[in-house]
Amino acid sequence: MAVRYFSTRSNIEPISASMAILQGLSKDGGLFVPDHIPALEKSMKDLSELSYHEIAFEVMKLFLSDFTEAELKTCIERAYDDKFDTEEIAPLVEAEGAYYLELFHGSTIAFKDMALSILPHLMTTAAKKNNVEKEIVILTATSGDTGKAALAGFANVKGCRIIVFYPKNGVSPIQEKQMVTQKGDNTFVVGIRGNFDDAQNGVKKIFGDQDFAKVMDQGGFQFSSANSINIGRLVPQIVYYVFSYAKLLKEERIKENEKINVVVPTGNFGNILAAHYAKQMGVPIDRLICASNENKVLFDFFSTGVYDRNREFVLTSSPSMDILISSNLERLIYEIADRDPAKCAELMKALSGTGRYEITEEMKARIAEFFGGYATEKETADRIKEVYEACGYIIDTHTAVASAVYEKFKKATGDDKPTVIASTASPFKFTRSVMTSIDAKYDSMGDFELVDELSKIGNVAVPKAIEEIRSAPVVHDHVYDKDAMEQAVRDFLKL
Ligand SMILES: *Cc1c(COP(=O)(O)O)cnc(C)c1O
Repeated sequence: MAVRYFSTRSNIEPISASMAILQGLSKDGGLFVPDHIPALEKSMKDLSELSYHEIAFEVMKLFLSDFTEAELKTCIERAYDDKFDTEEIAPLVEAEGAYYLELFHGSTIAFKDMALSILPHLMTTAAKKNNVEKEIVILTATSGDTGKAALAGFANVKGCRIIVFYPKNGVSPIQEKQMVTQKGDNTFVVGIRGNFDDAQNGVKKIFGDQDFAKVMDQGGFQFSSANSINIGRLVPQIVYYVFSYAKLLKEERIKENEKINVVVPTGNFGNILAAHYAKQMGVPIDRLICASNENKVLFDFFSTGVYDRNREFVLTSSPSMDILISSNLERLIYEIADRDPAKCAELMKALSGTGRYEITEEMKARIAEFFGGYATEKETADRIKEVYEACGYIIDTHTAVASAVYEKFKKATGDDKPTVIASTASPFKFTRSVMTSIDAKYDSMGDFELVDELSKIGNVAVPKAIEEIRSAPVVHDHVYDKDAMEQAVRDFLKL
């Protein structure tokens, strides 16, 4: 049965996958959600014989119903090619009692590459299918990793331009350097005087502005989004959870039908939602462990049923998770609110009004599979050191949040099922935090000295993505006030 897409906020006519990818966000401000979650057509045993590409096809064809087999296969081949430094695409590494699913082998060494390598191909295919003649303008707010991954994916893609907004003082030096050195005439990188939520809200406001949409239209442009709210981001993320289970089965680390747990370091709730969808497709996953840093809105939500963004925003060593409004949670809320867009819209209205909403006991009971946990800055740093000292494996700060929360989960529940931890970034992306966690003495070293030292003590080669930015010139130096984001768009597009 073909999957079509509804909005989480009102009863729209259902639309095709390709239209949902092009539009990004529904006009009513809601997110697009599949009308049902399709079941996998092959058994996990059969899937365990397949490559990453083949599994990607098996999963994505079910959600992207209006893409032809040839279209989808072409997108997959173009996305997961030698941009990745390993043919496995997503290796699974056993360390310290868990399986680390390394999602950072793509061109920007963070897990966003898993989806953003394919999104431009899905989007240009979708544009062709729907006879779109306007130039597509990708507008993205980033807490660090999305920005570079989207820039790398969309740079020099014909018929597309990309504008990335990031919090000027809220990303790591390496993350910033990666973005401001981005090549491609169709790219525009802007620092915002504000935090990630300001950048994200600004983007949402521009998207929702009907008058500005007319200006864009007259200029021959149309917006789309590469943020994790785009269904074209979410669907490719389901793939690696299916892949990781298949891999464990193939290597006989688990038996057929044996349940596993999954731990995801969470910010915008996209990655863990993909795991939840993988479970609904039939992957034997038991608990979904949602790991937060000190911005623990989600931990509080899972423990109390109250989502409350009214709190201090903390800048942590895991900046890609420094988020107080987890946009993708809306899709889960819709699901547990009987898929009733009116109920979901009411809660989201409360969120944008008072910054807070509460779900009912009945809704809470439906998300019992989630376990919310958080790790403090100290616990995160300690975990990096602990894992390194135990086995020489170096994890990044985001993955360390997940790993620390997993330790708490085991203590709290006694649950020792085989567990996959989503390893979302290379330690080379957060070198200073990672190295000073191992030993404070490293703080006196320069950024690239630290890179070389990490390579030495961790016995891993410096990734190409880091080598490239050592000497690359800065080509973007724009900084705007958080209230002037629309002006930034006008300036770049000359509107
Ligand atoms: C984006 C990001 C996250 C958070 O993922 P969400 O899908 O937003 O929950 C975690 N770790 C890293 C390294 C990231 O880049």
